[in-house]
Amino acid sequence: MKAVVYYEHGEADRLIYEERDKPTIGEGEALIKVEACALNRLDILARRGVVKTTATLPHILGVDIVGYVEEQKGGNLPIGTPVLVYSAITCGRCPACLSGRENRCQSLKMIGFHTDGGYAEYVNVPVRNLIPLNPKIPLEEYAAVPVDYTTVWHALIERGGLKVGESILIWAGGSGAGTVATRLAKLVGATVFTTVGSAEKAEKAKRFADHVFNHYSGDVPRLVKEATGGRGVDVVLDYIGSATWKKSLECLSVGGRMITFGGVSGFDGDVDIRAFYTKHLTIIGTFFGTRLDLLKSLELVERGLLRPVIDSIYPLKDARSAHIKMEESRHFGKILLKP
Ligand SMILES: [Zn+2]
Repeated sequence: MKAVVYYEHGEADRLIYEERDKPTIGEGEALIKVEACALNRLDILARRGVVKTTATLPHILGVDIVGYVEEQKGGNLPIGTPVLVYSAITCGRCPACLSGRENRCQSLKMIGFHTDGGYAEYVNVPVRNLIPLNPKIPLEEYAAVPVDYTTVWHALIERGGLKVGESILIWAGGSGAGTVATRLAKLVGATVFTTVGSAEKAEKAKRFADHVFNHYSGDVPRLVKEATGGRGVDVVLDYIGSATWKKSLECLSVGGRMITFGGVSGFDGDVDIRAFYTKHLTIIGTFFGTRLDLLKSLELVERGLLRPVIDSIYPLKDARSAHIKMEESRHFGKILLKP
């Protein structure tokens, strides 16, 4: 089969399109014929070696997978069923798994990060990770769903407790997660502030958010304070990390909460401890989400309320170009690869 692999960490030119052996499946596994695989920032951090994985090299990236069941051992879905793949492999036995909080499982592995993923014509995954689809939109678009929708639902709804009437600042509203978070927050009934890096993206983001600021040219904490009568926002969603951490805390109102599930710009952040306690702030850490979060957000996709925003679709062989586009932040929404 054709696949994109890297043999060593480094820049996008380390990605090589080549012939690989088709994966073999063990008991409880299915072979999926990949229809599409979406890019995530995690792919870039893994390829560069910034975030470490136990996967051996050469490695096949790709966490967000949709395709068709080609073969299975122990599953009961008819061959050819269109499926979406829940991205986390968990033990199924620990207290976290048994209480439906499998994203807290301490032996959690991400498909495409710890194991070979969807930058290929075929991928093997546990049958219990398959979610059969009756596609209401083109199957490839569902590749935008597993990581971003699951993570954002868990962050805003389950962990963040976002409520109607609250205000929220979401950094990078043009990212895959940003396009989901801004619209989900609007569906909840929140007033949504977001940031983008260009005038062109600002026009697009205005369709989803009430207030759009430029995070390069604007003083975001000052703009947020001005727009809220000096009060600040109830919630900030920050997955940017070092570059925005301090500003996020400044944007919060008294009693505000900051939610974080990533740090694409770096993992160190300062906290003004006095401001933190005198303002009664809360920082909520959250990682990925559960199958239930995925199913709930998928329902909104099916009902036409939260359709994936697709920036572009590249043939698998052009994965390098797709990575460079993401690294240069020239995208709005998801970038997909198609074998
Ligand atoms: Zn577990």
